[in-house]
Amino acid sequence: MVETQPTQRTTIAIIGGGVSGLYAAWKMLYEKNLTDVDIHIYEATQKCTGRISTAWIHNGFPIELGAARFSKYVHPVLNRLVEHFQLKTMPYEYANRFWHLRGKKLGLEDIAAGKAAYELRENEVGKYTDNLYEYTEKNSARTEAEINAMSFHEYLAEHISEEACTFFRDAEGYDLLLGEWLSGMDGVRAVKQHPDMLPKGEVSWFHIVGGFQTLMKTLEEQITARGAKIFTNHRCIELVQNENSVTVYVETNQNNDSIVKYIEADRVFLCVKRLDIKDIALPLSQEKLDAMEAVEPVPMVKMFATYTNSWWSAFSRRDGNFCITDMPIRKIYYGPGHHLMFYSDCQSALYWKDLIAESGRKPEALLGEVQRQLSVIYRMDPTKLPRPNAFYSKFWSTGIHVWRRNSEPIKVRNLLMGTAAERIHIAGESFAVNAGWVEGALETINLLIDGVLYP
Ligand SMILES: Cc1cc2nc3c(=O)[nH]c(=O)nc-3n(C[C@H](O)[C@H](O)[C@H](O)COP(=O)(O)OP(=O)(O)OC[C@H]3O[C@@H](n4cnc5c(N)ncnc54)[C@H](O)[C@@H]3O)c2cc1C
Repeated sequence: MVETQPTQRTTIAIIGGGVSGLYAAWKMLYEKNLTDVDIHIYEATQKCTGRISTAWIHNGFPIELGAARFSKYVHPVLNRLVEHFQLKTMPYEYANRFWHLRGKKLGLEDIAAGKAAYELRENEVGKYTDNLYEYTEKNSARTEAEINAMSFHEYLAEHISEEACTFFRDAEGYDLLLGEWLSGMDGVRAVKQHPDMLPKGEVSWFHIVGGFQTLMKTLEEQITARGAKIFTNHRCIELVQNENSVTVYVETNQNNDSIVKYIEADRVFLCVKRLDIKDIALPLSQEKLDAMEAVEPVPMVKMFATYTNSWWSAFSRRDGNFCITDMPIRKIYYGPGHHLMFYSDCQSALYWKDLIAESGRKPEALLGEVQRQLSVIYRMDPTKLPRPNAFYSKFWSTGIHVWRRNSEPIKVRNLLMGTAAERIHIAGESFAVNAGWVEGALETINLLIDGVLYP
């Protein structure tokens, strides 16, 4: 059944109850102290979590199937929020890495000794990924605009061999690095900002004790305390632009009936993923619709296996606490409190998609494949590997976004964010210059509220 309900007047309708949507409400109510606004948040799912998904706390450690870590220095907006709410943090320590590539276990010293099974040029043998990256950077006479017009793969391949590019991707553990769409400049950003990459500087990375869900819960409690209304199970399906307002159509299910309601809003913040925006009928200019093609959604998978003891500790004492492999399991983090975390992107993530989708009915198929890949790394009979006492997995069709080649991140972000004279504002991680991070999502909200609407 479809029915419309009477108009409700609100000032700001926020579509999407992820971290950007909740933070937008919090910022208006607490930092800007706006008392004359009604804020409604419409969230399509049953809970305001978005790409933050704390599944469990295992021996004090948060099992984060979405966002997990942040840096106090690289992520100042998030850090300020964490400190403001006095959320406890704990260090994220996976610096001690080793590799399993092309069937060989390699430590740092093995790579330096030229033992990686890649057909590298003479000047590439024995080099780490940071050496290969620095060599490219040092020898490139390209301007930023030229690097942006090429893919990151092409940028590397101008200076290092194709095998070295493959080694770079395999050894860093991120398939997206050689994606034909990833712009050179966004690849540079990814490499320079990422905690796992180029293992040199001592940047401090942290988890939130109790998980990122603690931040979401705190935001939710605070905004509702100041009168914001959160409507879960309310999917926005259409926005209609009027002279002085926007009509927001939302669909909700009640007793197996689909009900469509509409609300008149002064402004709408669209804080949803790029592909979810496409499902909403929108009165946007062709220029804005085209601009959205500037970002590429990247699929991701996270899996956790929890145990009663760290059966791998003999291996990890010898080899390290972070293994990067070229198998679909890709990255294995030996976590505190007896757990292993596995993290893959792009084609390696797609490898797990069906196994995860069917794991409710066939858990053994997913676990069996994980055990098989672990047994290759440890050269052990898979049936002899200890079984986890619990297993968590999540496939994200859009894990994060990256900027495509030839894109202009600042221009696109500003265009979609709109001006104060406009009424529909697109914000959140999808079009953040700092895409891929909670920090990027929060930055877009700061720009919208401090820079555009309430300067
Ligand atoms: C596996 C993984 C690991 C990550 N690791 C980190 C990390 O370690 N550190 C870090 O900083 N970041 C990390 N990120 C990125 C981080 O999670 C995101 O940048 C951030 O959560 C994005 O927030 P958002 O509010 O912009 O979007 P989202 O969290 O995607 O929120 C959008 C919300 O909109 C809702 N929605 C969609 N369509 C509609 C509709 N039509 N109507 C109403 N609601 C709708 C969705 O249900 C969702 O709740 C990771 C992401 C993933 C997937």
